[in-house]
Amino acid sequence: MNDDGTAADTDDYAAARRDLVDRLRERLDLTERTLSALEAVPRHEFVPDRLRPRAYDDRPLPIGHDQTISAPHMVAVMVDLLDLHEGDRVFEVGTGCGYHAAVVAEIVGSGTVYSVEYVPALAESARERLDRLGYPVTVRSGDGRDAFADEAPFDAAYLTCAAPDGVPDAIVDRVAAGGYVIAPVADGGSQRLVRLIVRDDTVDREDHGAVRFVPMQ
Ligand code: SAH
Repeated sequence: MNDDGTAADTDDYAAARRDLVDRLRERLDLTERTLSALEAVPRHEFVPDRLRPRAYDDRPLPIGHDQTISAPHMVAVMVDLLDLHEGDRVFEVGTGCGYHAAVVAEIVGSGTVYSVEYVPALAESARERLDRLGYPVTVRSGDGRDAFADEAPFDAAYLTCAAPDGVPDAIVDRVAAGGYVIAPVADGGSQRLVRLIVRDDTVDREDHGAVRFVPMQ
């Protein structure tokens, strides 16, 4: 990186991001749509300054308040499982730094991401960051069980924190029939990533393996 300017930094970050996306493409069965969204979002803008050199490592990083930004591969897998479309209205529980929401916003385009964050200071800084970077994400501070009931129904929803007793009904109920809910759920001492398929009268459940997320408050 140059000592004198940001232009070289920007190029270095873009190159590191391309390398990360190339590695994910080889390692996982991801759609090109999801990979392009990952290539478009400047993850280094979402992490604390001192961690910027690690922004394109495929690992979670601390973002303060005992919370973390998820690893890029986990964001990619969850985005793929949601099977989003242009124009979709998506509900996110756990904004954190806003990175995952920005990736989703890249995919839904003219649609909207509604995101709720429990820690007010994180909600405030994510809102400012997403706004500055031009992502149409509506951020509110509060509990995912209550927030955005006024904006339902959504085409899809996901949690970035692990629900202790399964995905709360209040969240599943806000998704239209035919939509998906992706969430880490506690399972004894570990966690599983599940995909719920919301139908008119029932909800089907698929298991997508072991994961590790911060607990839902
Ligand atoms: N998607 C985020 C990851 C954030 S980590 C990113 O890309 O950075 C999970 C977040 O869920 C944390 O910020 C935590 O504060 C938040 N959280 C935990 N319980 C919550 C609840 N009940 N309602 C809303 N957010 C919650």
